[in-house]
Order: sequence, then structure tokens, then C-alpha cells
Amino acid sequence: LYMIPKSHPRYESLIQREKIKDAYKEGYLADSGMIAHGRGEAFDYLIGEKTTLSSEKAIKASVATLLLAKNPVISVNGNSTALAAKEIVNLANETNSKIEINLFYRTEERVHIISNIYRNLGYENILGDDSENLKYINNIDSPRATASEEGIYSADLVLVSLEDGDRAEVLVNNGKKVIAIDLNPLSRTAKAVDITIVDNIVRAIPLMIKYAKQLKSKDKSYLKKIVNDFSNAENLKESLDLIEIAKIEE
Ligand code: ATP
Ligand code: MG
Repeated sequence: LYMIPKSHPRYESLIQREKIKDAYKEGYLADSGMIAHGRGEAFDYLIGEKTTLSSEKAIKASVATLLLAKNPVISVNGNSTALAAKEIVNLANETNSKIEINLFYRTEERVHIISNIYRNLGYENILGDDSENLKYINNIDSPRATASEEGIYSADLVLVSLEDGDRAEVLVNNGKKVIAIDLNPLSRTAKAVDITIVDNIVRAIPLMIKYAKQLKSKDKSYLKKIVNDFSNAENLKESLDLIEIAKIEE
């Protein structure tokens, strides 16, 4: 598909770059989405382009939280769709979550292309597209703050990835529990939310699916213990320490 030899030491990373470029060319990723991806690449390099132990702990706590939620919603944008649409659909099915489109630079065309991508994957009830009468969280009447009534507007838990700090803060300030997949442990998003998975979305979501299959059959008290034993502040510190160690060992 792409002219990159499988033997290339950074094959996975180069494939992601191609997918992001294609999404831009196809018209559903904003130019700034490519810049955001580059920022992620840099942090991924610093953690060795692999899932760390601290990320895996955050993933387990996230899945337990998803399974305990009443109305969990996975918020998707151009970047997350370009890199992991199929896996997002699987995760939604495994955890009974809804999927909602929320774009930082919202245009009708982008929304239309993205909802078609999910429909073509067999996922019919995508929320947040223009066929709906969208509401606004906290009455912030901005295309950035759209919220579907049965989705993010009424959700008790929202999973965001590659999300801007302002919007993550709006969700938290409106009483939502928020999980973020964000490679930058220093971003405002990473610091504002309840659980931060410091990992690449292409590795995080498949691992979340694996844990969802395992944890689905457990009782509530078992899941609650996993959630209570997790501290996001501590976990973020572990992620930062790992970057420090990588630097010294070089
Ligand atoms: P903030 O607004 O939270 O302070 P920011 O303005 O630097 O952060 P945004 O562009 O708003 O960043 O959000 C994109 C975030 O997604 C960045 O923190 C970036 O590191 C992260 N990111 C980029 N690519 C990936 C990826 N493939 N997987 C996970 N996270 C990623
Ligand atoms: Mg930002």
C-alpha cells in the first residue's frame, strides 16, 4: 500500500505518517492536525515507541472505568479516525460505548467524510453529525463545543484522544469523568483529566480491547478496586520519569 519496506526500523511510525497525510488529502483532517501528529511523534520517540508499564496501568484503569460507566462516549476527530477508526468501533462494541464526532475545526464536509468512514465500517449510529440538532456543553456556542444530547451532553464518561486542553477542561468542569489518550504527559489535557493514557492511540486502543474482553465478566467491586488503586498524578509522574531514564541511558 505504502512504499515503505517492512524492515525499516521505524516502519510503524512512517505508516502512521502516511495515514495522516492521506486524511489531510481526503479532506477530513485539518492542517493543524498534521502538526499535532508531529508533536505526538516526538513524545512517542521519547518513550521508545512502545507501551510502557505505566501506560498499561492507565489502560487497565480506563477500561474498568468504561465498564462501570452508565453512558460512556468515545469522542473522535480527524486524527483518531485516520489512525484507529476500526479499533475504535471494536472498543465501542466491547464496552457498550457510543461514538461521537467532535472536531476542533468543524466543517460540514469533514463531519460528513468522518461519519461515512464509520458507516462503512458497519457502525451506523454515529453521533455528533449534522443530521442532529446539536447542543452545546455549558452553553459555549462554538462549533468546538458541540455535544449530542444522547452522547457527550448527557455522558458520565468521555474518552478523548489527541484532544485540545481547553475542551478537555470544559468536559471536566461540567462534571464528566474524562479519559485521555495523549502522548504528551505535560499537556493541559493530560493534567486536567481523570485518567491519562500516555501512549500512541494505535497501541492504546488494541490493548484496551484486550483488557475489555478480560474485565467484562468481572463484578463491579473488582472493577472499582482497579479504579480506586489508580492515581493519575502518580501515573503521570511515572511517565515523565521513564522519559528521564531514557535520556540518561542513551
Ligand atoms: P494541550 O492543548 O492539551 O496543552 P497541545 O495544544 O500541545 O496540548 P493539541 O494539538 O491540542 O496539543 O492536542 C494533540 C495532543 O495529542 C498532543 O498532546 C500530542 O502530543 C498528542 N498526540 C499526537 N499524536 C498522537 C497519537 N498518535 N497518539 C496519542 N497522542 C497523540
Ligand atoms: Mg491545545
